[in-house]
Amino acid sequence: MFDLDSRDIKFLPGVGPQRASVLQQELDVRTFLDLLYCFPYKYVDRSRIYLIREMDGSMPFIQLKGRIVRFEKVGEGRGQRLVAHFTDGTGFVDLVWFNGIKYALEKYKLQQEYMVFGKPALFNRRFNIAHPDIDAIQDLRLSSMGLRPYYNTTDRMKRMQLNSAAMEKLMASLVKLLKEPVPETLTPDILEENRLMSLTEALTYIHFPANAETLRRAQYRLKFEELFYVQLNILRYATDRQHKYRGYVFSRVGDIFNGFYSHHLPFQLTGAQKRVLKEIRKDLGSGRQMNRLLQGDVGSGKTLVALMTMLMALDNGFQACMMAPTEILANQHYDTVSHMLQGMGLRVELLTGSIKGKRREAILQGLRTGEVHILIGTHAVIEDPVTFSSLGLVIIDEQHRFGVAQRARLWGKSERPPHVLVMTATPIPRTLAMTLYGDLDVSVIDELPPGRKPIVTIHQFDSHRVSMYRSIGKQIAEGRQVYFVYPLIKESEKIDLKNLEEGYLNICQAFPDCTVCKVHGKMKPAEKDAQMQLFASGQAQIMVATTVIEVGVNVPNASVMVIENAERFGLSQLHQLRGRVGRGADQSFCILVTGYKLGEDTRKRIEIMVRTNDGFEIAEADLKLRGPGDLEGTQQSGMPFDLKIADLVRDSQLLQHVRQIAQRIVAADPTGSLPENRLLWERLKKLRKEKEDWGAIS
Ligand code: ADP
Ligand code: MG
Repeated sequence: MFDLDSRDIKFLPGVGPQRASVLQQELDVRTFLDLLYCFPYKYVDRSRIYLIREMDGSMPFIQLKGRIVRFEKVGEGRGQRLVAHFTDGTGFVDLVWFNGIKYALEKYKLQQEYMVFGKPALFNRRFNIAHPDIDAIQDLRLSSMGLRPYYNTTDRMKRMQLNSAAMEKLMASLVKLLKEPVPETLTPDILEENRLMSLTEALTYIHFPANAETLRRAQYRLKFEELFYVQLNILRYATDRQHKYRGYVFSRVGDIFNGFYSHHLPFQLTGAQKRVLKEIRKDLGSGRQMNRLLQGDVGSGKTLVALMTMLMALDNGFQACMMAPTEILANQHYDTVSHMLQGMGLRVELLTGSIKGKRREAILQGLRTGEVHILIGTHAVIEDPVTFSSLGLVIIDEQHRFGVAQRARLWGKSERPPHVLVMTATPIPRTLAMTLYGDLDVSVIDELPPGRKPIVTIHQFDSHRVSMYRSIGKQIAEGRQVYFVYPLIKESEKIDLKNLEEGYLNICQAFPDCTVCKVHGKMKPAEKDAQMQLFASGQAQIMVATTVIEVGVNVPNASVMVIENAERFGLSQLHQLRGRVGRGADQSFCILVTGYKLGEDTRKRIEIMVRTNDGFEIAEADLKLRGPGDLEGTQQSGMPFDLKIADLVRDSQLLQHVRQIAQRIVAADPTGSLPENRLLWERLKKLRKEKEDWGAIS
């Protein structure tokens, strides 16, 4: 067998060092095999040759076989074009070039037989084909009689004459090498059971399919393999973890938990909160390390579950820490938690980037000695060298990007890995959950605390500001508070800041009796906190902010969320923002303000928001509208490699299918030692090595 993977691409005839470096820079292609894995993005049917006589005005593409009988230059200067009179004996068409005239004249010869392919148009009652694809009959490619592949190319590639047709030629010479099979990447069992093509066949037919059915089977085989290794990777990893690490056993529910439950709990737990706490308790007592994802829509009360889980750790003599993605959120968790635990004699500390000097030292000291029971902080907590005396539990809040690799880094902190609870309000569609968090057990809070009224969402045009302000004024008069949110301020986006500042002035004018506070990403943390505090305490009635408040902020008295330039936000972001209201017993409103002219996608997004409060429905719709590549986190986490052909949305059924197969294999071979699976484990090891993050873990 022969190894295309070890052959430098510059040695492929027609490539050479210059093109090789372009291929490497533009497509990350280094070897023969890399190039073979650059799949076509579309195919056009070339199976039929038409007669000129048969042409009519309705054909999108046509293929003809015949000869050029005359060249003619028409027009002057920049308007000049080249016309070749082409015939197959049944009629004439004009082949036309508006540029590259000299090149065409040199390349194409009179009276030689050519296969011509292109898009016909009718002009002066004569058919013409502009910039046709032309092949001499003697060097017809494999594809000329079937589906013709089209390849993505960049401008730089085109400048090196590496257009789609050139790529096709390179592929053709590569595919010829496949007469010798490439090493198979799936076991005979899997191939047979799923009636898959061999890898060699698939790599041939993906480029040069004889017909649509062959193409479908080649695609299926390659998608299968991709998704299978994604799943095998994550399941293998979860099993390894269970074998390698034992978890701390939290065997008892003690005084702290019980004391809190009977004397400090401000309300009844919802049924869903109780159920989830039970699931967590079971994990913590099992002797295995807990790795659990807690999903619950915004406002479903995850913080309380987190808090009570931390108390279980404390009851068993361990410390707990809770990490949030932003300082604002960490602050808020700190406030909530220390408030709820008041009078229980526990030491809760906050550690963020802005806590420095002596205070920081004192906290770090307390963590080392074990005097600090609960640490709440931003991710600075894990990036800095923080040493705990006995860290038993880590809670990660609202961190969609916290994939397998990052979680693993956490354990470096202690000899035995602490239990891990990841919490998210951004509902993760099933397919994504299987890849991103495929190694985690999942708990769901599917019930909101009682007495919540569903938020009413309204779409409003910019121009109707006056009446909008009037209704908002009424809410404020009743004692409610209001958010106005503007698109995010980034370094380069001066416009956003201008929008926010203008909006701020505007709002101050419209509500002269109100205190208006302001938060954006370019403020100093202390300044931000002071403004947040004004709002949280009720001293300010209106908060004007950018999306820094997107996740987690909790001010139950706020009942109106106005989202300015709503067209500039994605669906899950809109949903998160909306979740900032509707946290108390009052009827809450979300107002989406947009311009009058809306694009198709924006209209859909707004419609969905107005129609439903269901986070899962919104997440699915989001995935469909944007595609998974766009969603945060898919790139870094869970994937041992980037998907080249499979699509998490369109191929979700296949994903579930291969997950089952991978599950079966890992269950039957938990230590990865069965000889019949050797091929799989070796392949996986290789894939992980190629991807840095995974290399670090495995
Ligand atoms: P999220 O799940 O979005 O993090 P929070 O934990 O911030 O939600 O909770 C939202 C609000 O609901 C908070 O004000 C919290 O005090 C309140 N809450 C949580 N659990 C209950 C409950 N069982 N009954 C009543 N209110 C609750
Ligand atoms: Mg929260």
